[in-house]
Amino acid sequence: MMEDRANILREMKVCRFCLSNEERELSNIYDRHPSDSKQSVPIPLQIMACVSIEVFSNDGMPQLICSSCRKLTAQAYLFKSNCKKGRRCAQSLSGYRTVDQTLPAKDR
Ligand SMILES: [Zn+2]
Repeated sequence: MMEDRANILREMKVCRFCLSNEERELSNIYDRHPSDSKQSVPIPLQIMACVSIEVFSNDGMPQLICSSCRKLTAQAYLFKSNCKKGRRCAQSLSGYRTVDQTLPAKDR
């Protein structure tokens, strides 16, 4: 019974993330998409990095993502990568070292 319900969810023609059911906008999360660049990171890894949701092909969840969520994911991932790159660069320029959190703020 539980298994049936899990399979229904898995087979549902909805976007896993926003539950949109605009069928022509949906594509498989695990397949390469024409809009992906050659080196692009797989969607499940981008989702994990940006929103800390784990996405596995055997987790019983819908297998589809809509074009809007795909675009947002790519943007969020790019934004995150840029922030990290920028911070690394700024830190190396400023000779940044990790702030010692054990000291009271006034002594840092
Ligand atoms: Zn969506």
